[in-house]
Amino acid sequence: MNQSKINNFLTKNISTLNGVGIKTHKILKKKKIEKISDLLWNLPQGHTDRSNVKTLDKLEIGKITTVKVKVVKYNFPRIRNLPNKVFCEDNNGKIDIIFFNSREGYIRKILPLNTLVIISGKINYYNKKYQITNPSYVVPINKESYVNRIIPKYSLTEGLTEKIYRKLIDQVISKISILNEWHDEHILKKIGNVSWYESIINIHEKAKVDFNSKYYRRLAYDEILTNLLVLSQVRKRFKKYKKEKKVFDNLYNKNILNDIKFSLTKNQISISEEINKDLNSDFKMFRLLQGDVGSGKTIICFLAAANAIRAGYQTALMAPTEILAKQHYQLAKKIFRTCNISIKYISGKSDPAEKKLIMQDLENGKINFLIGTHALFQKNIFFKKLGLIIIDEQHKFGVKQRIELANKGGKDCDILLMSATPIPRTLILATYGDMDVSRLKGKPLERKEIITLSKPEEKIDEIIEFIKKKIKGHNQVFWVCPLIEESKKLDYTAAVKKFKSISKIFPNKVGLIHGSLNKDEKEKVLNKFLSNKISILISTTVIEVGIDFPNANIIIIENSNKFGLSQLHQLRGRVGRGHSQGTCILLFKNNLSENARKRIKILKSSNDGFLIAEKDMKLRGFGDVLGFRQSGIKDFRLADPIHHEDLFKIAEENVKEIEKDERNFKKYDFLIKLFDKADIINEINQD
Ligand code: ADP
Ligand code: MG
Repeated sequence: MNQSKINNFLTKNISTLNGVGIKTHKILKKKKIEKISDLLWNLPQGHTDRSNVKTLDKLEIGKITTVKVKVVKYNFPRIRNLPNKVFCEDNNGKIDIIFFNSREGYIRKILPLNTLVIISGKINYYNKKYQITNPSYVVPINKESYVNRIIPKYSLTEGLTEKIYRKLIDQVISKISILNEWHDEHILKKIGNVSWYESIINIHEKAKVDFNSKYYRRLAYDEILTNLLVLSQVRKRFKKYKKEKKVFDNLYNKNILNDIKFSLTKNQISISEEINKDLNSDFKMFRLLQGDVGSGKTIICFLAAANAIRAGYQTALMAPTEILAKQHYQLAKKIFRTCNISIKYISGKSDPAEKKLIMQDLENGKINFLIGTHALFQKNIFFKKLGLIIIDEQHKFGVKQRIELANKGGKDCDILLMSATPIPRTLILATYGDMDVSRLKGKPLERKEIITLSKPEEKIDEIIEFIKKKIKGHNQVFWVCPLIEESKKLDYTAAVKKFKSISKIFPNKVGLIHGSLNKDEKEKVLNKFLSNKISILISTTVIEVGIDFPNANIIIIENSNKFGLSQLHQLRGRVGRGHSQGTCILLFKNNLSENARKRIKILKSSNDGFLIAEKDMKLRGFGDVLGFRQSGIKDFRLADPIHHEDLFKIAEENVKEIEKDERNFKKYDFLIKLFDKADIINEINQD
């Protein structure tokens, strides 16, 4: 097969392989294996040693063993629930092979009387005899080499046997043999000088998966390069989007800045100027404003909105939830009170008559600033002259959605995204490489630092006392019980338990939020908390980013070692947003690991999200992307932005080289398709 045929093969649905029936298909889908190529990235978790055939006098109970035996006799009881048995022997002993749920005809076929067979499975001992129950393999003697060896072990869901899985992997590997190398020689040298095919084989068949082996690194590099290359292409495309430039004076900005109680920090001013320049340019703005929780992004966005409006355009601000959107709306009305503009709020729940009016006024240009949830992008909503889209607290936008967004607003529309997830440079490159990035560092001077304490769980009584006092003073408390990743179903039992026990101490004062509530139910509880009808909010999920809960200044985080540092930092950022002192209490079980101790110490010693993120990553193990997932970084299946940092750097240079000449791209077609990016490239090449 040539490259493009292999590409086509790999992107086919997994059900096109031999041996994938409806049942297996379902199981594979659960494991997120849908395309044939997904098999390649589902790496072995270890190996099962089935090598060294043992004679029947050398068996060890409990061990996975391969034997070469003669089939002597069958026993097929006609009674339900009794297993079928096959008696086998070699020169040194006897063994019974036991089958539950296998039919007689099948057993006769795979174990014909008086023949030699290879059987592999776990040895047990019953009624003074060795047995193998439901063996993993039964093969004729000429297939010995297929079983008598070390076999990669995949993490498989129930119902999917090693045997079936191997059959699938083998079909893939047999079809993807030698391809033309796509990397230049000097790049190849830097990343270990091994071919793609060699690497795939090695990862799946030979060595234990080692994230630093040249084979693994080769594959990771391909993934990194593809991502950076695609993002860079998208970026280049964005840079070519022309627009009518926005011309404005600073009247609105001046009014607003005179009216608010604080003055901007240096960093806020320079980012604001950067944005103004973008608005005023002939090309579309496509900018990410990244800043820690509480760093003061909102005012920057409002100033940008003011300028776009001053230039005669409409602005739309979208927030992920009603509560957040409403808070922005209320704040906007205050901030813009000196500007004499029309600001409206819209959500999925807006009253239909009111909505209709808003839609009319948007279309005839009477509304200058529309704030809302995703409802403001409904198909039947038309702006007269939309010039700026601002999206708050987005962290789940992939590059595809960003392209969509870039097209949505129409020709003259600038785009400003806000994100509160502090991530270091390699990660920005890997996830937002298509955008211009402004980083808002530090926090407004007046804000009080949050006090962070750590306490062992046993001292919960002290905490209850503390809360009692605080609640009397009208303070409110977040109480976070972390998700237990492994069992989604059980994820909120801990929170429910906590809810019950805390409710006993504080009757009618406690609310509960967990992942199984829908958006409306969640907002209902949040609103109760916001309006101070309840004093303690227990939750499993991360409390909505960005919402201001002015009275909530205590956060208690259980099992705090289960969270990533950045997450903990984000969580504690929910408190102390008003003017009072925020307190964060990290609860932990007494047996904290060395690593966990270090992390708590980092958190206590700093309130700088970027610094924490940076340190956090250095403490992480390979592929430990917990917490990154929250930030939307799920583009990588092999590469690890921390442990493969050097590969990112090589790829960054490599992209620059490749982009010197359009003709170079052809070589990377295979990769682009392999990593499912062809549609992105097509999309940006369309117009
Ligand atoms: P975030 O970046 O998390 O969205 P906000 O924009 O909500 O943060 O700002 C947090 C708080 O800091 C707000 O109450 C805001 O009014 C205040 N703030 C913003 N900039 C300044 C500043 N330069 N000086 C003092 N307070 C500021
Ligand atoms: Mg905000």
